[in-house]
Amino acid sequence: MSLRRRSGQRHLGGAMAEARVKGWCPGVWRPMASGDGLLVRVRPAFGALNKDKLLALCTAARRWGSGMIELTNRGNIQLRGVAEDGWPGLMAELERAGLVDKTPEQEARRNIMVAPDWQPGDRTEQITSLLLDRLEDLPELPAKMGFAIDAGERPILVDESADFRVECTADGQLLVRADGRTRGTPVDSPEAAVDLLIGLAHWFVDSGGLQAGRMRSHQLPLPGWVPEQAESAVPRLPLALGAHQSGAVYGLCFGQAEARILENAVAASNVSGIRVTPWRRFLVLGASGAPVNGLLSDNQAPELSIDACPGSPHCEQATVQTRNLARTLAGSVAGRLHVSGCSKGCARRQPTETCVVGDKGRYSLVFHGRADGTPDVSGLTASQLCDYFGV
Ligand code: SF4
Repeated sequence: MSLRRRSGQRHLGGAMAEARVKGWCPGVWRPMASGDGLLVRVRPAFGALNKDKLLALCTAARRWGSGMIELTNRGNIQLRGVAEDGWPGLMAELERAGLVDKTPEQEARRNIMVAPDWQPGDRTEQITSLLLDRLEDLPELPAKMGFAIDAGERPILVDESADFRVECTADGQLLVRADGRTRGTPVDSPEAAVDLLIGLAHWFVDSGGLQAGRMRSHQLPLPGWVPEQAESAVPRLPLALGAHQSGAVYGLCFGQAEARILENAVAASNVSGIRVTPWRRFLVLGASGAPVNGLLSDNQAPELSIDACPGSPHCEQATVQTRNLARTLAGSVAGRLHVSGCSKGCARRQPTETCVVGDKGRYSLVFHGRADGTPDVSGLTASQLCDYFGV
């Protein structure tokens, strides 16, 4: 990996200096090496950033990274292109903005997705707050495991990656549900929900779940103290782009935007901050809904039906460009399109109508499958691919 070096580097001692650059599980404490430098992922508490924090993040993205900001499919925010020797300075800046956990362990445990339209004082906020206070009571879980706090009238995170969920029944009863199970356990208070989440996490570890890796794959029957008694209310759809009762929802093409575009989105004096979502869109609290240059606000925009990972040169595993090609193909391919730099398929795990996959500098096509599926067509150059779709 070649990492750009920057002048004016800063050195931090103590715990920060002990953190090591790892090739996995990106966080602020553990950035991940990528083709264009380090990837630094911030996990906003409650899925929320007030305006000051978002502006601080944008400034940091420009000063220490490429200036690009990405929303991940777990509702986190990541900065790209950070030089290895710039990382301590970035850490210090993010710490001043209140965006860094005290320890890497705390950051790793705080894997909590929150329904983005929670309201102050509602049960989603209460449960998230209680769980944050009890992070140290959780066992050590695999890095990808996490919680979805989704206790509104109808759940909205059911299709998103999480292992332990809090939802509501159709008659408003709180419910704790293990991922992969259709029914959950009713509880009578936010405190009881958090007790049960923690108990379930310990049961997962103690009953050999680490071998399975995720709750959904852990086939052992749940213990008797987690009866699968009730179903959640019918889920609702992800937040639509446009006006929302708390502001306005905007989309990011491929989940990515320049920092200055996000700054523009929150420039109005009545905007108080944002809520991140796992759907490459964010809710701007207090926004009027006026279009913002560089952001999507049309629910029919062709970019919304395309997934594309960063590809070459941003990812070391990619041998082809992805996003420029995806823009070229937008609107010319029927159904959902996934352009993946390699068969890992980071941008989308589910099957798509058309999946374009990079392979040794050429492109393969998988129809009605995933990036790791058997190709239906192989060995196309970019121009042959465009010819194939008549672009
Ligand atoms: S799918 Fe492959 S090329 Fe794309 S980001 Fe993931 S590892 Fe990199």
